[in-house]
Amino acid sequence: MKVKWSLFTLVAAIALLEFNAFSQQRARTPIAIPDIPGFKALKFDFHLHTVFSDGLVWPTVRVEEAWRDGLDGIAITDHLEYQPFKADVSTNHNRSFEIARRAGEDLDILVIKGSEITRDMPPGHLNGIFLKDSTALAVTSWRDALDATKKQDAFVFWNHPGWTAQSPDGTSKWYAEHTELLEKEILKGIEIVNGRDYYADAHQLALDHNLTLFANSDLHSPAHMDYPPGGDFRPVTIVFARERTAESVKEALLARRTAVYSGGRLMGAEELLRPIFQQSVEVLNPKVRLQGSGRRTVQIHNTSGVAFELEMRGSSDNVNAPRQVTLAPGKIVLFTISAKSGKEIPKGRFKLDYRVKNLICAPGQPLNVQLELEAI
Ligand SMILES: [Zn+2]
Ligand SMILES: [Zn+2]
Repeated sequence: MKVKWSLFTLVAAIALLEFNAFSQQRARTPIAIPDIPGFKALKFDFHLHTVFSDGLVWPTVRVEEAWRDGLDGIAITDHLEYQPFKADVSTNHNRSFEIARRAGEDLDILVIKGSEITRDMPPGHLNGIFLKDSTALAVTSWRDALDATKKQDAFVFWNHPGWTAQSPDGTSKWYAEHTELLEKEILKGIEIVNGRDYYADAHQLALDHNLTLFANSDLHSPAHMDYPPGGDFRPVTIVFARERTAESVKEALLARRTAVYSGGRLMGAEELLRPIFQQSVEVLNPKVRLQGSGRRTVQIHNTSGVAFELEMRGSSDNVNAPRQVTLAPGKIVLFTISAKSGKEIPKGRFKLDYRVKNLICAPGQPLNVQLELEAI
């Protein structure tokens, strides 16, 4: 017994050493959200800081963090108006991008040139991305800065509209200045998630004004200080692009083909969320014998990394089925059904109505889905 225990201890110690060795490797964890028909589901973080503004990391670190976190690309968006380390690093607003771009080429991470226009509310903080020259935005008037983004054919979105430093009650307020930027065709997107904050009223503003949805980390610290391994993940903007190129990403943003993934929730237009669900979930044995009083198990496979939280809508007339079921990521889940007592189930296809509580098409509006089965 003593020998066995020692052996066990030794094996456990070796396993632990191996685990540590693996955890110290430079390794990427892909984000398992599938492509949809016609489009690749590219994962982006379009709002990041480095030491070239008030961030605490060098630009190349942002690239490797993105690679490790399973992203396809990033935008580095250092503040134009706030450079607290200017005694120690260059004040050239293009420099952080230039450094990151080379690291991006090495790790196959798309690096988009950006800057954060950092002003009082209104209009607040806005990111210009797909810029050509960030220095042209470093001007006194915010109107001139935003006009400069337009001259460069950049894409502009409104950052953290419900940030309590600029909106003490946490609501996202739309000002005349935002209407002005919309009418000048400058403002085209909005963060509905910044860090761990979801702004439901900004989500509604996006729908009201046809703005592209974003969820970005706005990281200042090293990524694993804010999102330690084993915990939750940084928010991600999912871009449905025809190709994995910067041009294709820009086209998708202009066409508003994004969804956001944050805190286990996927939010976006129904026509994007539905194919994600359909590509991810398969009923492995849809044909079931429902005659008599026996119970039958259906196996449902979720190949994605998203836990889909299903809740029954209404009640089916003839069939008992789970009112709540979570389709765990990567798992095959058992789902028990039976005929209601005294009910004859006619042979043929039938559907069970569910809502997916964490797939959100609009504030308070989850995606409705149907599970298709066949009684034989
Ligand atoms: Zn900001
Ligand atoms: Zn920021």
